[in-house]
Amino acid sequence: MAAPNPEARDGETAETLFNKGYGITYNDFILLPGRIDFGIDAVELDTRLTRGIRLRTPMASSPMDTVTGWRMAAYMALLGGIGFIHYNNEIDEQVEEVRKVKRFENGFIMDPIVLGPDNTIADVNAIKARDGFSSIPITEDGTRATRLIGIVTNRDIEFRKDLGTPLREVMTRDLVTAPKGTPLAEANRILRESKKGKLPIVDAQGRLVAMVTRTDLVKNRDFPGASKNEHKQLLVGAAVSTRKDDRERLDALVAAGVDVVVIDSAQGDSTFQVAMITHAKERSRDLQVVGGNVVTKTQCRALIDAGADGLRVGMGPGSICITQETMAVGRAQATAVYDCSRCANEFGVPIIADGGISNLAYLVKSLAVGGSVAMMGGLLAGTQEAPGDYYYKDGVRLKRYRGMASIEAMEAGGGKRYFMDEAAVKVPQGVAGYVVDKGSLMDFIPYLTQGLRYSFQDLGVRSIPELHAALADGRLRFELRSPSAQREGGVHSMFSYEDPFMNVQERARRKW
Ligand code: IMP
Repeated sequence: MAAPNPEARDGETAETLFNKGYGITYNDFILLPGRIDFGIDAVELDTRLTRGIRLRTPMASSPMDTVTGWRMAAYMALLGGIGFIHYNNEIDEQVEEVRKVKRFENGFIMDPIVLGPDNTIADVNAIKARDGFSSIPITEDGTRATRLIGIVTNRDIEFRKDLGTPLREVMTRDLVTAPKGTPLAEANRILRESKKGKLPIVDAQGRLVAMVTRTDLVKNRDFPGASKNEHKQLLVGAAVSTRKDDRERLDALVAAGVDVVVIDSAQGDSTFQVAMITHAKERSRDLQVVGGNVVTKTQCRALIDAGADGLRVGMGPGSICITQETMAVGRAQATAVYDCSRCANEFGVPIIADGGISNLAYLVKSLAVGGSVAMMGGLLAGTQEAPGDYYYKDGVRLKRYRGMASIEAMEAGGGKRYFMDEAAVKVPQGVAGYVVDKGSLMDFIPYLTQGLRYSFQDLGVRSIPELHAALADGRLRFELRSPSAQREGGVHSMFSYEDPFMNVQERARRKW
């Protein structure tokens, strides 16, 4: 019998794993541990989104109408990632969302809801029921275009029985305000000293431009890792379709200061997309352009040749997606990310692993197989920063989440991604439903980033470039998981148990 070879390594390389002739998903494999000789604080999560954009956190939110509006994009950027504003809207609406991110200053509410003196206590109650807050600034005509004249708080209305009472009769006129341009620290000082709950920020004409609230004081922390440009504005992305008339949309987004666009198409290898990438690069040399979606090396090459600065990879892995089951076209996501990254690497183009990231482990795996950034829809759709209201179903707090190719979203204009916006017969490739409340992004993203650090420590790598180097030279070891290995890796043999992931969500939710 031959002596055991001490150099032999357990597991296999990515190259052998992904060349077996069948598609591999994140759930099919496990990563073998490396050596730990550093603390988790030594782990850096810096990465590249595109050739020209670096991020401190390897995460992006999907351009979907139940995931990324301005609020999601702003908080993703504050937390070191980036959000892509969806395009299921009119051009000027999408542009306004981009502008809101660009104007965003942490700690300031830039679009406070206002009412007028003729509105009633019932109107305040309706806002309270819908949005959860009950301090409403009152302007002359109930819009932010006129002067601020008062504020209505809970204390002004709690004992009033007549819900039809106009707000002019109950509002507080004695206001403490601060001028536009007041720094956050100063605004917080005024708030503390005035003992008021809200500090309206007004311009020279007395119009309300923002609010700082006492309840937000705790959130007004520093974000040293925020994704910002040289003017200290948050970075923001936006989606455009491949349709020719979306050139107008792209031009308007560029004028509004968008940093990166993603050409949003379910099958990215098309002449329409090449034409759009060419137009985008001609329109602005500073604009970064992400092409996609792609899942094969051939597709990658076509978009890289067209000038794409980043590639979005995924066809079919999304949590709301039925593309593979209706179109019979797509690819298992781990294989797709790995193969595309092998091609894109040669050209220095980063890969965004898009879809199917349903937990922290899949986030790790998406980076381990060559992704530089993970794009998430469903995992973020239940956060407070995602568009839409919460609903209760059987006592569980939920948010609506829908595929952009669900009938519901296509009817609202989302079919462009699937070349189906003008089709008389629509073939849905996505579903609509609900996801569980995840609390605030401010708690959820730090949970994910800290988890990534611990995982990198287990793997013995300190950074994403180090992880990718180990992937390329075969030091990173993989193993396929048999069905019973998968069962063994999950909770088993318990009568009942509390799901710690749900508890994280619950804990996060309770902070609010
Ligand atoms: P998730 O993170 O697994 O929920 O997947 C989100 C991703 O699914 C998005 O970033 C899109 O690439 C993709 N996607 C969005 N809408 C649809 C759809 O209706 N059908 C198929 N894929 C979709």
